[in-house]
Amino acid sequence: MNKIHLPGETIGIIGGGQLGQMMAQSAKEKGFKVVILDPTPNCPAAQVSEGQVVAEYDDLNALIELAKQVDVLTYEFENVDAKTIDEVKKYTDVPQGTKALIVTQNRLREKQFLVDHHLPVVPHEKIESMADFTAAIDSIQLPAILKTVEGGYDGKGQLLLENNDFSENEVAELISQGTCILERKINLLKEVSVVISANSQQQHSIFPVIENEHRHNILHLSNCPARIKQTTEEECFDVAEKIARELELVGTLCVEYFISTDHQVFVNEIAPRPHNSGHLTIESCNVSQFDTHILGVCNWPMPKVTLFQSAVMVNLLGQHLGPAKEAIKQHVEWYFHDYGKETAKNNRKMGHITILTDDIETVKQQINHDPIWKS
Ligand code: ADP
Ligand code: MG
Repeated sequence: MNKIHLPGETIGIIGGGQLGQMMAQSAKEKGFKVVILDPTPNCPAAQVSEGQVVAEYDDLNALIELAKQVDVLTYEFENVDAKTIDEVKKYTDVPQGTKALIVTQNRLREKQFLVDHHLPVVPHEKIESMADFTAAIDSIQLPAILKTVEGGYDGKGQLLLENNDFSENEVAELISQGTCILERKINLLKEVSVVISANSQQQHSIFPVIENEHRHNILHLSNCPARIKQTTEEECFDVAEKIARELELVGTLCVEYFISTDHQVFVNEIAPRPHNSGHLTIESCNVSQFDTHILGVCNWPMPKVTLFQSAVMVNLLGQHLGPAKEAIKQHVEWYFHDYGKETAKNNRKMGHITILTDDIETVKQQINHDPIWKS
């Protein structure tokens, strides 16, 4: 507990996608060695690390093998089994513990945690059967969104119910996958997020509020700072700090918020890891969300975050990467990131571009009129 990890030591990361890759890059800058556990050989994070254990995330023997090789263990996603983490704690330091994982792995548990701490959430009901669903429609009212409580990401495991014309079969099919939650659909003014990091002594680094634009439920664009009222900004910071305290945060966490057209703030989700919306911190701030993750996990002092310049980040999905590469020569202002994934599937996150600018609106409009991002 409260151990400080120093350069020369080895950090293990469960999960080898882009988040693990950018964590590893930050760790290596500081002189750490990095070993990744991921089922895909030569995954994005392994490309920039010393080693990889090629295995599924729930392969306990492989996790123990990883734990024995490293001085400290972290993860890049929330679907790591908490029992497994408890098991590998015998072999290495796991400063993040399991509290944040357990709470955020399940939408119902997450909502209950927020309600218990008097934090604002969207009206919702637990759904385990068609009878639950029919009753919940009366209390929640349409439009609403039905979501599986576990395993969903980038809008997967969700069904939008705009009005009474919805398909009962689709509803039954989603409920048959496991417990669901029916949430009232909020009239959104904006979606924003706050990235916050901590070390084992509960010292925090908090990043400015980021504003997010989604397409087909997948993050498309982010900009920082968010263009919101000061009172809304303060509320977002207060909520994020409270969540970090209550979850005994170590490393980086992101709180996603809905701001309704009547300026109410709701917590949408908590991600106990660096977040896509925080990628712009790499170029726009004195430290990135990956730096503060490594600092927190290694229990170094937590720096005050400064935004050097406002920024816009746009995702490169499978369908965008090829055309974006073609256009590099015309865009000196692009900070281009390609995660090195082997196959560019439609809607798969392949990379991102950050642009530093004093004119967020113009840059957003240029991106949204650019044929690269038409699909
Ligand atoms: P995921 O785990 O896939 O990110 P979210 O619950 O964050 O799932 O939903 C993805 C996106 O769908 C949100 O960012 C938002 O744009 C939209 N959405 C989800 N729930 C609601 C809601 N209750 N009201 C309005 N929009 C919603
Ligand atoms: Mg989300």
